[in-house]
Amino acid sequence: MTIDVNKIREDFPILKEKIYGKPLVYFDNAATTQKPQVVIDKLIEVYTKYNSNIHRGVHYMSNKATTETENARNIIQKFINAKHSYEIIFARGATEGINLIAYSFAEKHLKEGDEIIVSELEHHSNMVPWKMVAERKRANVIKWAFNDNGDLELDELKKLITPKTKLIAVNHVSNSLGTINPVKEIIEIAHQNNIQILIDGAQAVQHIKVDVQALDCDYYVFSAHKIYGPTGIGVVYGKEALLDELPPYQGGGEMIESVSFEEITYNKLPFKFEAGTPNYADTIAFAEAIKYVSAIGIDNIAAYEAELLAYGEEKLKTIPGLKIIGTAKHKASVISFNIDGLHSYDVGMILDKMGIAVRTGTHCTEPIMLRYGISGTVRASFAFYNTKEEIDLLYKGLLKVVEMFA
Ligand code: PMP
Repeated sequence: MTIDVNKIREDFPILKEKIYGKPLVYFDNAATTQKPQVVIDKLIEVYTKYNSNIHRGVHYMSNKATTETENARNIIQKFINAKHSYEIIFARGATEGINLIAYSFAEKHLKEGDEIIVSELEHHSNMVPWKMVAERKRANVIKWAFNDNGDLELDELKKLITPKTKLIAVNHVSNSLGTINPVKEIIEIAHQNNIQILIDGAQAVQHIKVDVQALDCDYYVFSAHKIYGPTGIGVVYGKEALLDELPPYQGGGEMIESVSFEEITYNKLPFKFEAGTPNYADTIAFAEAIKYVSAIGIDNIAAYEAELLAYGEEKLKTIPGLKIIGTAKHKASVISFNIDGLHSYDVGMILDKMGIAVRTGTHCTEPIMLRYGISGTVRASFAFYNTKEEIDLLYKGLLKVVEMFA
């Protein structure tokens, strides 16, 4: 099956918006993706038909909302091929998911002098939480540097591993450079050395088929809003045995089995890690997004986005003074670039006036910018609802920007 992009665009009402009277060209998909009508409809359905707090009710609406939420968990379990649905924990997003694992992992496993290897390619959300827990436990975060192309090298990782290494944190796909990391090989190296591993999949699940059992990864996190679902909801996958060992992250309702002033016992998975009223409405709508992309097929999406990436890179390379930052061997549909003598903000602001939405700046990856000695980049990130015609508009827009500043 190939992508029928015109038909797909009909499913996303926002794509019909005009920006300053011009058709919207939305190339900020790595920051957040747009929502298909089925996701929007599902949110309306929850709030108009059965909104009710879940898990505790005896009445019809509470039961209905509970069933829909737990169905969503099953749908997400199948989507990433987790062994059990209770290995899917709902959190606010990838950020909260990483904080959850970092906190609980450190409480259980991290001692003074221990080491956590974090790649230099990480979003701040997969770096700062590790620095925070390392500081608390007097442990050390060790940088796994990337090469000039934006690739992580396995030989470099092997050199960093010591008997003190307790965990490796790395993304599946880099949000600023688009690098697709060889996570299967990285996980193998971790496990050969008895090291646990967390994969930040925030930029991967929407582009690449992820099978957590085939990968054999210990923890895998992602956010719904980057895979066409609502904001405020995301997933932490963890292997049952590892999650069972970890203490809870937050205390409150739902996460307990029994409470007295003398003793508290914790609930079983996944509830042990889901304190308070869960974001059930967004969870239920999230499942619609997963069903939607699954029906199109992640492999079909990946093939079409690879076409967009190749087309975009070829065109943009011909713009005078334009340099693509991040030329990894395998890339997701992200083009980060700078134009000689121009600040990324200026480029972004002029493109905005043409109705073209790109992201500019450091993309929450300041270590990457430091490594390249730049203040930021312009980033165009493509989704399967984007078209080559839109890339042509970006190309023409950039030519105009260059002309203006000449
Ligand atoms: N990791 C990566 C690679 C990301 O791109 C992002 C979002 N930009 C995050 C983590 C954090 O995701 P969220 O803000 O949805 O928690």
